[in-house]
Amino acid sequence: MNIIFMGPPGAGKGTQAAVIVKELGIPHISTGDAFRLAIKQETPIGVKAKEFIDQGLLVPDDVTNGIVEERLAQPDCKKGFLLDGFPRTLAQAEALDKMLAAMERKLDHVINLKVDLNKLLVRITGRRICKTCGATYHIEFNPPKQEGVCDIDGGELYQRADDNEESVGTRLNEYHTKTEAPLIAYYGDQKLLREIDGDQSIDAVSKDIVSLLRG
Ligand code: ADP
Ligand code: ADP
Repeated sequence: MNIIFMGPPGAGKGTQAAVIVKELGIPHISTGDAFRLAIKQETPIGVKAKEFIDQGLLVPDDVTNGIVEERLAQPDCKKGFLLDGFPRTLAQAEALDKMLAAMERKLDHVINLKVDLNKLLVRITGRRICKTCGATYHIEFNPPKQEGVCDIDGGELYQRADDNEESVGTRLNEYHTKTEAPLIAYYGDQKLLREIDGDQSIDAVSKDIVSLLRG
């Protein structure tokens, strides 16, 4: 199963991806997570990506495509993959099609998580991430058992540097112009687009996605 999760920042892509990859036994490929790791490790890609991420802007396509191409070539992707937050531009979608064609693979579903704009800011500003395993929490909607501590591995929770009100406006604007408008049309034309109501409890959204995938 080769799947893409689309949706604005804060829609629940990462949260749902964690559930779905367990269910399907396929790797979770998040370009946002890959960039955060590269930034932490201060690699050349990390240094480059940070300039853009700090401003809420998309990282250039060539940098982003390279990361995905390398990851898709890994043996664990043979059984399928879940791309979270990629593609985010038409050029990325076209590059992905070329990568998949070269591997004689095809996309099965592009799942678009829909959430009202006014809910996104609360989700994003309340988001907390585990420093060690990357698990995602929300201070109100999905709190850890102990404040500031990851349930899974006891790691310290932190707030992403870009999860602030200034950055969110830019990120939403980037999403609407560069991702949503072109890619809904692109994948709609290819009959790959599936809409999911992301404005429900985390469990209810997971159930809808699982039943869609089980078809
Ligand atoms: P969110 O969870 O809020 O949707 P991500 O963790 O997916 O955000 O991404 C964080 C940031 O990393 C984005 O704001 C953007 O700067 C960069 N980024 C992630 N994926 C891509 C991509 N496919 N193309 C360009 N930039 C990306
Ligand atoms: P994305 O990857 O699309 O940016 P996340 O999965 O990181 O989104 O979710 C953003 C925030 O909203 C996180 O703090 C997460 O715990 C919370 N969240 C995710 N799904 C829901 C939901 N269905 N209801 C309420 N909060 C949610």
